[in-house]
Amino acid sequence: MCAEENPRFIVDLNCGKLAKWLRMLGYDTTLFDHRDDKYLIRTALSENRIILTRDTQLMRRRVITTGIIKALFICRDNSLEQIRQVITDLGLDSAFIPFSLCLECNLPLVKVSREDVKDRVPSYVYQTQTQYVECLNCRRVYWQGTHWQAMVKKLDGLGK
Ligand SMILES: [Zn+2]
Repeated sequence: MCAEENPRFIVDLNCGKLAKWLRMLGYDTTLFDHRDDKYLIRTALSENRIILTRDTQLMRRRVITTGIIKALFICRDNSLEQIRQVITDLGLDSAFIPFSLCLECNLPLVKVSREDVKDRVPSYVYQTQTQYVECLNCRRVYWQGTHWQAMVKKLDGLGK
C-alpha cells in the first residue's frame, strides 16, 4: 500500500499516541489538534500525508474512498498494538533512525556536545551517556536512556 519511500502522516486525536511512536521511528508526523475535519483533510491533501484515524465517518468520505487521500483505519485501542498495525498494514520499515525527530515537535534533532547539556540533564545521565541530541524548538534534550530503550524493546521484532 505504501509506495512512498518516506511516507508522512497526520494522526487523528482519537489515536494521538501514534504520533510519538511514528516520530520515534523517524516518520514526519503531524498531530491533528483541530476540531474541524476539513483541516485534517486539507492538511493531508496539501502535505501529502496519510491519515491515521479511528473515525469511521471520516473513512467514508469521498476523498478517502476514492483514494485521493490515503487513510488507514486504526482498529486497536492499545497504542502499541496500533503502531504494530500501522507498521504491518503499510509495510513500514521498523528499522528506525534513532534521534531524528523531536517526539513533541516533529522537528529534526541536532547533535549537541555533552558539555552543552551538562546543566540540563540529571547528573547520572551526564555520567553515563556520551551522545545527545536537542530540539532547537522546545530545547528538549534526548539521549539513549532507559525510556528510549524501553520503547525500542517494545517494538523489537516487528515489521519484518
Ligand atoms: Zn521539540
